[in-house]
Amino acid sequence: MTDPKLRTTSGNGRTFDSVLDTIGNTPTIRINNLGPDGINLFVKFEAFNPAGSVKDRLAVNIIEAAERSGALKPGQTVVEATSGNTGIGLAMVCAQKGYPLVVTMAESFSTERRQLMRMLGAKVVLTPKAEKGFGMYRKAAELAEKHGWFLARQFETQANAEIHAATTAREILGDFNGERLDYFVTGYGTGGTVTGVSRVLRAEWPETKIILSEPENAQLVGSGIATERGEDDDPISSHPAFEPHVIQGWTPDFIPAVLQESIDNGYFDQLIPVPGPTGVEWAQKLASQEGILTGISGGATFAVAMEIAEQAEPGASVLCMLPDTGERYLSTPLFGDISVDMTDEESEISRSTPGYHIG
Ligand code: PMP
Repeated sequence: MTDPKLRTTSGNGRTFDSVLDTIGNTPTIRINNLGPDGINLFVKFEAFNPAGSVKDRLAVNIIEAAERSGALKPGQTVVEATSGNTGIGLAMVCAQKGYPLVVTMAESFSTERRQLMRMLGAKVVLTPKAEKGFGMYRKAAELAEKHGWFLARQFETQANAEIHAATTAREILGDFNGERLDYFVTGYGTGGTVTGVSRVLRAEWPETKIILSEPENAQLVGSGIATERGEDDDPISSHPAFEPHVIQGWTPDFIPAVLQESIDNGYFDQLIPVPGPTGVEWAQKLASQEGILTGISGGATFAVAMEIAEQAEPGASVLCMLPDTGERYLSTPLFGDISVDMTDEESEISRSTPGYHIG
């Protein structure tokens, strides 16, 4: 007889017509070991998307919205500036739909991201670290203009927040159905997540407090200084409060137009800065104490969620976005102190029996 406690599964009750149909519906997962007693702390784990990050949502919608409007023609090359996850998502979508893709990316982002995009069939054009996010952004615009390519414009397009309102936010409402959600915690890169989710939460669950975070050494929103924008809503200069930070995917060196909607509409109740090394620390704790392997931005968002949880009223529930998988960070400070060789403790385990010693 089968053990009644044996875990079983029964499939999705359908087959999927394409990898693109597996985007979204990521799980909301309870934190059991790290959170303070009496608080219901949850993470929405975006690594479950097929190309491993929250940006798969935006990638498929940018392409499909442009197909619907006619802005993207069959076989036309797509070009975009991205710190990696949008490029990886776009590469997946373009591979499936048959569009060539060129990505511009500052050389400072993790090298595995370049390889992942190339593996998915994209071309990656590097831009100098000194030119920051603004440099890779200008390069993508230049290439689009010169070659007549379709520029994805993740920092300005309506297709960004729109997909988070239609999917991410709806999933949150569905998952907490009948239960209270007191706090929603997120960072921002383009601002698509916070703007899209907040549009819906403000309308449907106005009691939910929305908490936004940004790097402690790059407090663009906290500075109160606006970004100057050109005709297409694109930034025309680098923000004075920007400093390079380790939280890849967060805070470019300008305030994106997509994020501006959240600032203008008062979509967040609190803005809490977080130091990059704190993000690294909490991502390591999520991995080793919860078995949840996320990137530095996930660790940083979780650090802020812990701050909120520690001050929250007993019984409160807190939801934290985890944007991507930690496997994308092998060459970064996230794995900086993770040994490749045997540690002293591992050598001691090895020497505890007579066979198979190295060194
Ligand atoms: N974390 C990571 C690792 C990302 O790649 C991104 C997207 N750039 C974000 C967080 C922020 O998401 P959004 O662009 O929706 O603000």
